[in-house]
Amino acid sequence: MEIAKRTENGSGQCVHLCRPPPAPDLPMQHRGADSGYNALAPPRAYPAPSLPPAPSRLLPSDLPAPHPPCPGSAAVRSPGSRFASSLRVLCSPPRRSAVFWRPWIDDGGEKEQEAPHNAVEAVPLKQGRSLMDWIRLTKSGKDLTGLKGRLIEVTEEELKKHNKKDDCWICIRGFVYNVSPYMEYHPGGEDELMRAAGSDGTDLFDQVHRWVNYESMLKECLVGRMAMKPAFPKGMLPQSQVTDTLAKEGPSSPSYDWFQTDSLVTIVIYTKQKDINLDSVIVDHRDDSFRAETVIKDYSYLVHVALSHEIQEDFSVLVVENVGKIEIVLKKKENTSWKCLGHPQENHNSFIPKKDTGLFYRKCQLVSKEDVTHDTKLFCLMLPPSTHLEVPVGQHVYLRLPITGTEIVKPYTPVCDSLFSEFKEPVLPNNIYIYFLIKIYPAGFFTPELDQLQIGDYVSVSNPEGNFIISQLQELEDLFLLAAGTGFTPMVKVLNYALTNIPSLRKVKLMFFNKTEDDIIWRSQLEKLAFKDKRFEVEFVLSAPTSEWSGKQGYISPALLSEFLKRRSDTSKVLICLCGPTPFTEQGMKMLHDLNFSKDEIHSFTA
Ligand code: FAD
Ligand code: NAD
Repeated sequence: MEIAKRTENGSGQCVHLCRPPPAPDLPMQHRGADSGYNALAPPRAYPAPSLPPAPSRLLPSDLPAPHPPCPGSAAVRSPGSRFASSLRVLCSPPRRSAVFWRPWIDDGGEKEQEAPHNAVEAVPLKQGRSLMDWIRLTKSGKDLTGLKGRLIEVTEEELKKHNKKDDCWICIRGFVYNVSPYMEYHPGGEDELMRAAGSDGTDLFDQVHRWVNYESMLKECLVGRMAMKPAFPKGMLPQSQVTDTLAKEGPSSPSYDWFQTDSLVTIVIYTKQKDINLDSVIVDHRDDSFRAETVIKDYSYLVHVALSHEIQEDFSVLVVENVGKIEIVLKKKENTSWKCLGHPQENHNSFIPKKDTGLFYRKCQLVSKEDVTHDTKLFCLMLPPSTHLEVPVGQHVYLRLPITGTEIVKPYTPVCDSLFSEFKEPVLPNNIYIYFLIKIYPAGFFTPELDQLQIGDYVSVSNPEGNFIISQLQELEDLFLLAAGTGFTPMVKVLNYALTNIPSLRKVKLMFFNKTEDDIIWRSQLEKLAFKDKRFEVEFVLSAPTSEWSGKQGYISPALLSEFLKRRSDTSKVLICLCGPTPFTEQGMKMLHDLNFSKDEIHSFTA
């Protein structure tokens, strides 16, 4: 795949000169010069209220989408979230702490000495209530919904009735689950689940771990979908309402267009934003399905069509930054004229808050795996040839693997193949390969499976997520990085980007907390970088050093921080990034506030 970046006067301009007279667009769409969006007919028809006979095992993805929302509901543009959003308006539960859904923490009778990941508030699970035990139960054939395999439509009134521990239904994104059998297995404890009993738990779920694959985990608990009073006969909000709501809430809606030459089809996305980059757009072409998701601030614009003709595997993505235009140039398989681009697929031409979109995954192949420390490895995954995906600095993705038949998902932060390319020849280009530094926990659930993968095996990789904003680095004078263990991973790209792209940068200091010397990731690279680039300093702090260690010792502390965080002047622009085990990050945040650093001067990396 060829990926290029250019200016308005750049090389791709001939494509415009060759532009043919406007071709008819998607069959369902009235073509508008610059706006496929406003003139678009409903992307999909919604199903009739009656449910089809239910198969005994059905995933939400197998079901028709929930019914459309009531008029006046704000977040209404994603079929996946339509009902959930409107239900929130009708019967939203009180807002609660961000501990509703937690990653699985199973003490299994063998607690480690140091706090496990994110386990700070986890409720100890009873013996026999681990994730594995839950998976076993779901596969036992036991009727977990009490409906003998039937799927039903659930009214609001009905949902509200199921609000007790032994009869607890929760709605997530329009689908209703009977979570009573799951209570004892929930790492966050029964009380947390009960907070959403008989109501819509989508908000609570999203606040913490919207990536947790509840569809797979709770598939045997699926009761059915929410029933809604049909608001509009065709299942769509009037277009004007969608646009009006968006205009008030966020950036103006992008639009798309397409044109062709004999051999090429170019899809143009007009983002109407200037700060668009190659990492703003993610393109996937699979069979005849073409999907381009553009992320604009907290919103996502999707072009999603089943192409009318075949194309070649490779395509190019061009960004004209100064006008916020993205061009995706596809190569036709045959030099015939296309009468239309294709047929709209789910959520085509939608512009919705990113938090309301599902995570899209593609399968990536394991290309290499090398030891970095005694327990941490550098994994290199290869993107499919028909994917364009660049993970922005400071963001993470989710890796997904089937483990004993259930899709398990965990977040990981891509790094560069080395701290700086001078230390190692970049063997492989970055826009095709994604690198991860991953610590293998022998008693962990996911990483031992990851470690078992052979070269050539596949792992699913999601679209990027995260709230780090690269503009935080602009004009920066002092950058302080506080990393503990694999909390080093987000620092890799931040460090690299800052040293390469921020001319105002005076100093970057990394304080790297580890248990022992053997745990320090890329120690020699860090020391070489400090030697080579005088703006960079690194300090190692060990919590369980051997007697030979003469450096700093202990956990994060106000004394360590006040000595380390010396800003040039009271007015110099400073950013402090923190990442590590949850207690480390929480304590660090508190100490930084006590040291009078403002919220804008601190960024903590969390899920
Ligand atoms: P888990 O099953 O979660 O177990 C981890 C450890 O805790 C094991 O030692 C296990 O024995 C212990 N444990 C589990 N439950 C308990 C319990 N109840 N009591 C006591 N001990 C327990 N990690 C990386 O290596 N690299 C990255 O780039 C990276 N990026 C991340 C990005 C984000 C945004 C987040 C939130 C996390 C990131 N992580 C990263 C951590 C990663 O997501 C996983 O949490 C980690 O890999 C552990 O997964 P696991 O399933 O193998 O282990
Ligand atoms: P670790 O157990 O090896 O500990 C590394 C250091 O963290 C310790 O030496 C100590 O200084 C500090 N630490 C550990 N427990 C502490 C506590 N209770 N209080 C204060 N400090 C403490 O770390 P690890 O196994 O490499 O785990 C790294 C953690 O970073 C994981 O929890 C992982 O989820 C998290 N992580 C988060 C992100 C992100 O949110 N973006 C990215 C990568 C890693």
